[in-house]
Amino acid sequence: MAGIYIHIPFCKQRCSYCDFHFSTTFQSYRQSMIESLVVEIEKRVSYLENKEVETIYFGGGTPSLLTSDELKLILDSISDKYTISKFPEITLEANPDDISREKLVSWKQVGINRLSIGLQSFREEDLKWMNRAHTSEESLTCVALAKEEGFNNISVDLIYGLPNFTLEDWRKNIQTVIDFGINHISAYCLTVEDKTALSKWVSAKKIIPANEDEQSEQFEVLVSELEKAGIEQYEISNFSKLNAESKHNSNYWKGKHYLGIGPSAHSFNGFSRSWNISNNLQYIKNIKIESDWFETEILSFNDQFNELILIGLRTSIGVSLKKLNSIQEPNENFWKKIKSMEKSEWLVVTNEFIFLTKSGRLKADYIASELFISN
Ligand code: SF4
Repeated sequence: MAGIYIHIPFCKQRCSYCDFHFSTTFQSYRQSMIESLVVEIEKRVSYLENKEVETIYFGGGTPSLLTSDELKLILDSISDKYTISKFPEITLEANPDDISREKLVSWKQVGINRLSIGLQSFREEDLKWMNRAHTSEESLTCVALAKEEGFNNISVDLIYGLPNFTLEDWRKNIQTVIDFGINHISAYCLTVEDKTALSKWVSAKKIIPANEDEQSEQFEVLVSELEKAGIEQYEISNFSKLNAESKHNSNYWKGKHYLGIGPSAHSFNGFSRSWNISNNLQYIKNIKIESDWFETEILSFNDQFNELILIGLRTSIGVSLKKLNSIQEPNENFWKKIKSMEKSEWLVVTNEFIFLTKSGRLKADYIASELFISN
């Protein structure tokens, strides 16, 4: 089983906190980009070694800017060249301002069966400084509309740790999402990325993001409120009702193979990782002349070990000891650290898995880095 990720590097406007790869001035080469994506889909057919494609994920950028004809062209080129499983999960990331009855109907028609909607917050003042292209009203109505049009598999994104954002504001956002009755939520803490408008405002002290204690408190409230609503945490930032986990993302975390199509997309096939050029025009040009549009790195045993730790600790299942041992047996120093973290009640070790406790999840990245083997 494998997955295909398609990166759509277009956005209407630049959100102030975002450092993803996208362009807001793309109309002149929009068609060439779509054609290049199709060419890459065809050219890299051998990458997945004929594995059945179980998930297809349109991410970005803003894939909901594509027309249904563009989506269909891409999906048709995938089904022409790859073996698709009987019931693939096909996700489209969508922004509330792009969601209309007409678009929802057309997405269904081309085969999209899961939506991941970027709501981020329901407070108008947050959406304004974030420079989101949608209003709070659109956030509130789009989910109901999607449900009316028969989308049962819906995820929404929320951001916490926002400036001037009280625990009460956060509780309200969480409750609004619970009241939608959807089955999946991804929640991310606001991070101040270099070269964003947000980082300039923070440096100039125009905006003061939440401090670490506030972030931790909001994270704890998130986990407990969702748990009460039957929405369980299955990865640090991801929560779902029973059997509604994102198959695509779960496959990343299980170490399954995936092919990334489009500028800046990453691919993984067990022993190597590759990443595409993060420049739209250069990507189109290099695809056209069939010259290196991606770079590849062969993963050493240490890289594979560290990756398994990093990804596994983020999930509720944890790190499989069997898999870890199959890469390389952890040394004495590793077990010493594990024992001390077990004592601090940050993690639990069973015969088969190492997994984080609730308090450990607050320090997941730190714990993982402590357990890494250096090259
Ligand atoms: S819409 Fe998404 S990808 Fe585009 S700028 Fe905003 S957060 Fe970034």
